[in-house]
Amino acid sequence: MLLNPGPATTTYAVKMAQVVPDICPREKEFSSLMKKLSEDLLKVVHAPQDKYAAVLFCGSGTINIDVCLNSLLPANKKVLIINNGAYSSRAAEVCEYYGLAHINLKFEIDQRPDLEIIESVLKKEPDIALVYTTHNETGTGILNPIKEIGALAHKYKSVFVVDTTSTFAMLPISVQQNNIDFCMASAQKGLQAMAGLSFIIGRKEIIEKSAAYPKRSYYCNLYLQYEYFKKTGQMHFTPPVQTIYAAAQALNEYFSEGETAKWQRHMRAFNALHKGLETLGFKNIIKKEWQAGLVISVLYPDDKNWDFEKIHDYCYQRGFTIYPGKISTANTFRLCSMGAIDENDITAFFVVFKEALEKYNITIPVFYKEKN
Ligand SMILES: *Cc1c(COP(=O)(O)O)cnc(C)c1O
Repeated sequence: MLLNPGPATTTYAVKMAQVVPDICPREKEFSSLMKKLSEDLLKVVHAPQDKYAAVLFCGSGTINIDVCLNSLLPANKKVLIINNGAYSSRAAEVCEYYGLAHINLKFEIDQRPDLEIIESVLKKEPDIALVYTTHNETGTGILNPIKEIGALAHKYKSVFVVDTTSTFAMLPISVQQNNIDFCMASAQKGLQAMAGLSFIIGRKEIIEKSAAYPKRSYYCNLYLQYEYFKKTGQMHFTPPVQTIYAAAQALNEYFSEGETAKWQRHMRAFNALHKGLETLGFKNIIKKEWQAGLVISVLYPDDKNWDFEKIHDYCYQRGFTIYPGKISTANTFRLCSMGAIDENDITAFFVVFKEALEKYNITIPVFYKEKN
């Protein structure tokens, strides 16, 4: 049972979907599988096929950040990164590596970005052509107001790119209602499939325009991949064949469970995590009403016996994976409601987690010296 923020727990059927006869991905049979998969990915975020396309890449989720930034910036223009966490910081690093002109607009990691500040930057900097942010900052669990940020991006004639890696196929998303021009995810997160397949969903008109933008990468160029797929129905280079079979199965399961029912299941798991943590006295760092509903960032207690590694190992040996935090200013660990899990799995987890605390003589309820 994976309680880390992806890869997520998968169903037996998704695992087994990878075991298929050997096939050359250049066969028509495989092309039609990818065509259906691309259409299904659009449906997940209610993106109309005439306006949006899904562009597939072989890689983990970070490849999408790389592709969007290096491919969608016209010459002599700037990227504005609305940054309140580790994943938007990653986007800023991508800009640095490519030498892309960018503004890294930082906010506190436990605060939502300030829309007035964002607007004042957009007003002052007419060279901004791309506004970028993260939907759910998976490092903390904070949900950003993407609809509002997108509206500002459009007001100032910019393209809006959102990293939805941890919300896609979890939290119901409609691209048009949220002013999203581009969003992205990987199969191993909300979809509950296997790592190795990532995809960008974006407006065709803008992808086609980007053909004329500077080409900064060969393997990771959005237009080249889009164009090749449109012409041939195939990915430019070898696709992750078996991973794609698993993703197709996961999408079937997604639609048969249903967007709303699936989200309710994750919310049950999320609420069960909160309840379990509260009972044991743990504190989390993001205001509950700002949390996306999939990651809880939990503060280490001030008990001298607390040792995350030991607790982790105890739980791991009993089938539950918990995960360290991703915040430089506080010691935290993370618990997530992603994947093929439900409330009863979380209840089972807390039995083991509590045993671990008892085994290592950690006082229950746990305590904190500071107010926090
Ligand atoms: C998981 C995740 C990514 C991608 O990370 P990889 O390790 O490259 O798969 C990107 N953005 C967010 C918000 C994520 O949660």
